[in-house]
Amino acid sequence: MSARILVVDDIEANVRLLKAKLEAEYYEVLTACDGPSGIAVAQTERPDMILLDVMMPGMDGFEVCKRLKADPITEHIPVVMVTALDGRRDRLTGLEAGADDFLNKPIDDVTLFARVRSLARLKQMIDELREREASGRRLGVIEGGGKLNRAGARIVIADDNERQAKRIADELAVEHRPVIESEPDKALMAVKARADLLIVNAASRGFDGLRLAAQARSEEGLRHMPILAIVDPDEKARAIKALELGVNDILARPVDPEELAARVKTLVRQKRYTDYLRNNLDLSMEAAVTDTLTGLHNRRYMTSQAGQLVKRAALGGEPVSALLVDIDFFKRINDTFGHDVGDEVLREFAVRLATNVRAIDLACRYGGEEFVVIMPDTQLKDALRIAERLRLHVSSTPFKAAGLSEPLTVTISVGVACTLGADDTTDALLKRADAAVYEAKAHGRNQVVSRAA
Ligand code: GH3
Ligand code: MG
Ligand code: MG
Repeated sequence: MSARILVVDDIEANVRLLKAKLEAEYYEVLTACDGPSGIAVAQTERPDMILLDVMMPGMDGFEVCKRLKADPITEHIPVVMVTALDGRRDRLTGLEAGADDFLNKPIDDVTLFARVRSLARLKQMIDELREREASGRRLGVIEGGGKLNRAGARIVIADDNERQAKRIADELAVEHRPVIESEPDKALMAVKARADLLIVNAASRGFDGLRLAAQARSEEGLRHMPILAIVDPDEKARAIKALELGVNDILARPVDPEELAARVKTLVRQKRYTDYLRNNLDLSMEAAVTDTLTGLHNRRYMTSQAGQLVKRAALGGEPVSALLVDIDFFKRINDTFGHDVGDEVLREFAVRLATNVRAIDLACRYGGEEFVVIMPDTQLKDALRIAERLRLHVSSTPFKAAGLSEPLTVTISVGVACTLGADDTTDALLKRADAAVYEAKAHGRNQVVSRAA
């Protein structure tokens, strides 16, 4: 996976070296030699990630990171702080400033590429979700942001080192809800039950922590759950393997409690963010295809579904029939009993419609007091029969509504049409059904009329 990476460093030799390494791996590299110009490039170019030197004259890396994370345009771009090898304080300050990851100087190639790859993957996911959220907002089906809760995360610690596990749990219990599992199967079950983060000791004695990480990663429902691996600092190959397996971050033993807390904070933040986008996405998908008053499918959904069916029919597939149903004198119901009663009648009618057609038929609200049923694999004569059954059911059983003193008799006019051959389209099909409704109205309403051509 390629990505655009911005390198910010005041020492030109460092910039050149990183640029050469990254370009050799086919990454696109942008550069800046101080904090303010780094921020400017980030804002205009929107890179996929930023490698940021800590020590720079004027504005240092922490300040740059803080500003990037405070700006809605750049806050989602992963920032990797480049720190001195023994820079524990730097790492903590960096995490506080919102950094997503670290690289120690001198930069080791394998770690560099493993980190870059892992963050590029994360960035791609965030971009995709944000894009979908943005289109949802344009359609008016997504509510705006709101503060995300960052505490109270359920964290599963898979570790058979009792003392280490307990220390980690105690540290995390201040803000979160950690549970310890010393067996991999149980840990996986706990994670599946619900978890915001899995911490796995890759140096466990009794089980292979990396195998567990890989198992969790491959579970369909767990693809977006962050995993933090605790690794032995001497086992570099295993650390790299962990990142290759899709572990989001690694932490060297012995676990530094502050660094642990800060890393967990970053991972939980990412998880909450993606959860939020996903939830909104589900809601927006639902809202985008559903009519809010009746719960039936809406016109947009019907049109897209019918389009595929009609295309298939036009190519010689099974015929598709359409019913266009219009409630008779509906305006009079509104005018006489009020709009709320009108709404109740629409809802009650929707229930009758949905329960009087077959399961494969697609019932939707077309608009106002008009409904459409798309019937796959249905000849005109069968569609007529179903329409007649619906008409009879509606007219013979009066409607009850909270705002009515006695049940109300409602009737419908139904136009029926069926696909005609190679040139037919959904539009043409619905036009014929509409013409048939018009005819039914003209002939006194409460009837079914079909249009063959
Ligand atoms: P016809 O028998 O010729 O179909 O007459 P009609 O009164 O049913 O048809 P018309 O198209 O004149 O009126 C439809 C009415 O439906 C007008 C509109 O205010 C009302 N309407 C549309 N959407 C809603 C809704 O969501 N709720 C309610 N209560 N009324 C609605
Ligand atoms: Mg109408
Ligand atoms: Mg009407």
